[in-house]
Amino acid sequence: MADNNAPVVNEVLTGRPVRFSTNVKMIEPPPGVEGEGFFMTKLSELVGMGRKNSLWPLPFATSCCGIEFMATMASHYDLARFGSERVGFSPRQCDLLMVMGTIAKKMGPVLRQVYLQMAEPRWVIAVGACASSGGIFDTYSVLQGIDQVIPVDVYVPGCPPRPEAILDGFMRVQDLVANESVRRRNSPQYQALLAEYGIQ
Ligand code: SF4
Repeated sequence: MADNNAPVVNEVLTGRPVRFSTNVKMIEPPPGVEGEGFFMTKLSELVGMGRKNSLWPLPFATSCCGIEFMATMASHYDLARFGSERVGFSPRQCDLLMVMGTIAKKMGPVLRQVYLQMAEPRWVIAVGACASSGGIFDTYSVLQGIDQVIPVDVYVPGCPPRPEAILDGFMRVQDLVANESVRRRNSPQYQALLAEYGIQ
């Protein structure tokens, strides 16, 4: 968002004042032990910090909630502030699947295929009532929640959820990412979760 109190730093190229905020906050380092010239922490904390602040979302938007996602990406709410400006449409290069909109049962296998094409570690947000539970479409043709075909990490309620709610859901995923053990994906519990969905 524009900071009207920031100093004017460049008006030569554009012919108008351009203001850049100097109020830039650095992320906190993970908890650890530090002294003069050294800092020690756990590997999982360090990896979690890196992953948390560089999530690459894959938007899977089928209807109105996708419009809220566009607002979330745009300059006012600006998901890039969380290190996620790199939205991708190649599943192999993304680690956060954001499902937004009504998912018809015919679309279920497509969604599942996109999920399977993402490399581990991967996380999933169900954005809005439709993705979470089918929403108002309690009909023969609509999937009553994407967790019928893929595991979901965070559900964002609302029809549609405001961008603030999407950001809140995103931050809940960041909490999961930051605190996840580097071994979780190989754990028997995680394998059992995938097995419930018929995923090897
Ligand atoms: S939850 Fe509401 S706004 Fe979102 S896709 Fe469904 S009907 Fe549209």
